[in-house]
Amino acid sequence: MKLGFEETQLPYTSGTQNARVWTERWVRDQVYCPNCGAAKINSFPNNSPLADFFCALCREEFELKSGKRTFGPKVVDGAFRTKCDRLAASNNPSLFLLNYDRKQLSVVNLMVVPKHFFVRKIIEERKPLAPTARRAGWIGSYILLNQVPSSGKIFLVRDGQPQPKEAVLAQWRKTLFLREEGLEVRGWLIEVMKCVETIGRPEFSIDDIYAFESHLSRLYPDNQNVKPKILQQLQYLRDRGYLEFVSRGSYRLLSRI
Ligand SMILES: [Zn+2]
Repeated sequence: MKLGFEETQLPYTSGTQNARVWTERWVRDQVYCPNCGAAKINSFPNNSPLADFFCALCREEFELKSGKRTFGPKVVDGAFRTKCDRLAASNNPSLFLLNYDRKQLSVVNLMVVPKHFFVRKIIEERKPLAPTARRAGWIGSYILLNQVPSSGKIFLVRDGQPQPKEAVLAQWRKTLFLREEGLEVRGWLIEVMKCVETIGRPEFSIDDIYAFESHLSRLYPDNQNVKPKILQQLQYLRDRGYLEFVSRGSYRLLSRI
């Protein structure tokens, strides 16, 4: 994977329009499909409403957001209603986040968030545009990156270093089980995965995770049985090879790769 933009492209002036051309071309030339490993992904014809690329082999779709700065906790995205409606659709796109160095004209980071991490809780509604705006009343969205567990943030390029493709594909495969579930089940699993990550150790006890009971109760106020629900998620994650039970009440995360 070469990280520099090709010189045959449009000269880079100041507009984001040009940057878009550079980064899209780069993705088309250099990026493999993180779902099936196909060597290239393809652009959709212009003006496709939500996705920018697709894989001809596995049909995975991708949206690209690119910027000069590293992405913060919130990423501005498209129309709120459309994002929400598309969550349950099988062709909801996975999200590439690319940041580039404007002077070097090269890619610094490329991360992908697989579509199975997109649940309602990571999409925030923005304020409608002011009446004076060209698209008055239009409501956009934020993607809350800080609500995505780290297993859902897969770097293909990190700090200017391409990551080994096998490691990327393995990290992607590791959470594919989430795709088999509906939004509600996925939501619980993702919340418990985040709690486990917050503990910050590969081995942890049931008490470590029960410490999140009140946090989860706030997220799911209608659920009166949060502890059994947590246990159920841990069993599910064990069955899918995300963690293992070491002994009664003690757990170990399985290695990412
Ligand atoms: Zn593919």
